[in-house]
Amino acid sequence: MKRIAVLTSGGDAPGMNAAVRAVVEQGAHHGIEVYGVYYGYKGLVEGDFRKLESKDTQHALKLGGTMLYSARFPEFAQADIQKQAFDQLKKADIDALVVIGGDGSFQGALALTKLGFPAIGIPGTIDNDIPGTEYTIGFDTAVSSALEAIDRISDTAASHNRTFVIEVMGRHAGDIAVWAGVAAGADAIVIPENAYEMEDIVHRVRQGRERGKDYSLIVLAEGVSNVDDFVEKYQALAAEQEVRGVSLSHIQRGGMPTSRDRVYATLMGARAVDCLREGKAGIYLGIQGEQLAEFDIIDTLSKAKHKLRQDLFILNRDLTQR
Ligand code: ATP
Repeated sequence: MKRIAVLTSGGDAPGMNAAVRAVVEQGAHHGIEVYGVYYGYKGLVEGDFRKLESKDTQHALKLGGTMLYSARFPEFAQADIQKQAFDQLKKADIDALVVIGGDGSFQGALALTKLGFPAIGIPGTIDNDIPGTEYTIGFDTAVSSALEAIDRISDTAASHNRTFVIEVMGRHAGDIAVWAGVAAGADAIVIPENAYEMEDIVHRVRQGRERGKDYSLIVLAEGVSNVDDFVEKYQALAAEQEVRGVSLSHIQRGGMPTSRDRVYATLMGARAVDCLREGKAGIYLGIQGEQLAEFDIIDTLSKAKHKLRQDLFILNRDLTQR
């Protein structure tokens, strides 16, 4: 194996650059040249490849976002477009590809592998919503950023005895809400996976106030409701409270990756190169029980479902319920 390409695809996530850097350095360690593909699968089809060296990735390691840029390119689901990418890779004398992204991006890696071009995935998404793996690159940073914002909000909430509803990212997965909510000591966490009663949340907050709490926090995943609608419905049942809503939005996507995101990204980037050298393809990497694990793209994505840490959700519910 002489040449590997690496791309980032789907939503950006802090730590993607650390994974790119590990691919570059592990490649160099084995005498393999590494090419960055710019703008995900779009760049692959257009042949937007540039050779990456240590100097290109050294600084990026600690930065959020993706130095390779990302793009949504739904056309890549078409067989003729995939063949164009295959031809571009062959023309550039590239032997294998590392794809850093979410499960949609892994489908592209699988399509190339089926065409006879080995490709392997690394889970990069702040949502932590990929089946099989317990962890995705970017999740830890997103939770830390959300938590920092919630802590700041709680300072002002306390000063005015307010109730704050804080909307965090997570259209289909409530992981960010659960982890940030538990860490912040939220009075209620509202996620797409679990049904909720507004009366129950109001009751829980009132009980907290009766126990002497200065303020109340409700962490809401975006997939459940828009924060303004939620606040309106909540306020209608809790006229005695001063309620405010805030959406943290893209703040959760940026920022320097945490040590955990960088370390796991580094482990996965290096392992991806090793796997390709061993002839493995059509798989993606992940974490199970704190250890690196490999997952077959077809098997895992078609059979497994992402598992939210329900134990943490229940813990938070119990701690705030009398
Ligand atoms: P996230 O949703 O976490 O941001 P993702 O990788 O799941 O990440 P998608 O928008 O689903 O994001 O996919 C990213 C890109 O992967 C798409 O724009 C497209 O180029 C490619 N892709 C998605 N689905 C397929 C598919 N079925 N076949 C081939 N390529 C695909």
